[in-house]
Amino acid sequence: MINLILFGPPGSGKGTQAASLVDKYNLLHISTGDLFRFNIKNETALGKEAKSYIDKGELVPDSVTINMLKAKVDENPDVKGYIFDGFPRTIPQAEALDALMAEKGGISSLLMLDVPEEELVGRLLERGKTSGRADDLDENIIRNRQEVYRNETMPIFDYYFTKGKSVKVWGVGSIPMIFNRLSLELDSL
Ligand code: UDP
Ligand code: MG
Repeated sequence: MINLILFGPPGSGKGTQAASLVDKYNLLHISTGDLFRFNIKNETALGKEAKSYIDKGELVPDSVTINMLKAKVDENPDVKGYIFDGFPRTIPQAEALDALMAEKGGISSLLMLDVPEEELVGRLLERGKTSGRADDLDENIIRNRQEVYRNETMPIFDYYFTKGKSVKVWGVGSIPMIFNRLSLELDSL
């Protein structure tokens, strides 16, 4: 199995690249952000709880996110591998993911899309014009998401780096160019 964490700050292109990687490598794409948005749209209990955090650019509590992620993995046991996009976001989430994937060969690699923060804010404001995502429309919320990333999520890079699994990929350039960089890393696994 290839169990890949596609990592990087909000706006770094994880969702875009995951869509292409799924086609090429036949993996299941699990985006916790997309799962939350699906629940919000359908006004489920989970969606209602998540919305209050997401609208402020904060993280949904780990227990909620981890349970949702586990359920999605357990529903899809017979796949060639997984691409985790937007998860893990905290060290406790990373530990929970390792435990969950232990019997599936563990995490193969963490690929980080490396993009400067000023570029990210511009990209998200641009995305907000068409995405309909409230958290992409307000620069303060966008800045808060970047700060949460720096403080809570970035340490996950080092967590997997000490396990020899983290790789940085330059995330500025055309979408196909960045896809090639990611593919080269995946092919070398
Ligand atoms: N979120 C979260 N935990 C997750 C994924 C998402 O709390 O595992 C929340 C968080 O508030 C985040 C928002 O959902 O800002 C949007 O997440 P998504 O991954 O879609 O954002 P992206 O980083 O791709 O812009
Ligand atoms: Mg995303």
